[in-house]
Amino acid sequence: MLKGKTALVTGSTSGIGLGIAKALARQGANIVLNGFGGVEGPKAEVAALGAKVAYHGADMSKPAEIEEMMKFAAAQFGRVDILVNNAGIQHVAPVEDFPPEKWDAIIAINLSSAFHASRLALPAMKAANWGRIINLASVHGLVASAQKSAYVAAKHGLVGLTKVTALENATTGVTCNAICPGWVLTPLVQKQVDAKAAANGWTNEEATKQLLGEKEPSLQFTTPEELGELAVFFCSDAAKNVRGVAWNMDGGWAAQ
Ligand code: NAD
Repeated sequence: MLKGKTALVTGSTSGIGLGIAKALARQGANIVLNGFGGVEGPKAEVAALGAKVAYHGADMSKPAEIEEMMKFAAAQFGRVDILVNNAGIQHVAPVEDFPPEKWDAIIAINLSSAFHASRLALPAMKAANWGRIINLASVHGLVASAQKSAYVAAKHGLVGLTKVTALENATTGVTCNAICPGWVLTPLVQKQVDAKAAANGWTNEEATKQLLGEKEPSLQFTTPEELGELAVFFCSDAAKNVRGVAWNMDGGWAAQ
């Protein structure tokens, strides 16, 4: 379905981003990976699906590096047709104890990076009259949890950016939508499970059960593979009039 198209997925060396990159690769897209940590493993996983794959290590908190990454992607494959703004970090603390540098980093990586990548991707998408921008927001783009001020502010902002981007391009072949997962068991969430286990003297299993029970009625994690299939749907022709939605896949979290 996506043969000949190029997808750039930020923060795709791990977790949800890698799951989405693999789902798009299965549809035939060329993939540009980004993110920190081991790169060879993720590259090999995507290449094994038959996709052409490139990697750029831009730090998504740095606009100049984002610009370099967008130029690199265009030089590798012609242009970016699908942009998945996925890179994200978390920090948990009450507002009065929240380190200002963590606030700045979360806003930069979870929100501003999507603005920068989108503004740089849009001209070529509009010229081709085809494009898909998919913003990895969160159920925290729709509702709040205590101790997550920067994350909730960034994700609500990302849902707002999604709507504006969708509206500005509504008469073109460029769509923009957000995906809002509940809990997904990635390194980002395992850290929160570990903190719960340490604070309460629980096993990993007890802490996981507690984490799900507090928020997610299905008591099940959403998987990167399921989120990948939603991203594939947003890229399909059938979704060409899906514009500006914030689509939760959250086990009923936001329905409460
Ligand atoms: P993860 O920690 O597994 O992956 C995060 C990715 O972002 C990694 O590839 C990491 O290297 C990259 N990254 C971090 N800082 C970066 C930076 N400055 N520059 C470039 N890359 C950077 O996390 P995940 O759970 O897969 O999260 C992916 C996205 O999904 C995030 O935006 C997160 O907020 C969102 N999300 C996650 C969950 C969940 O339960 N895991 C739920 C809702 C939304």
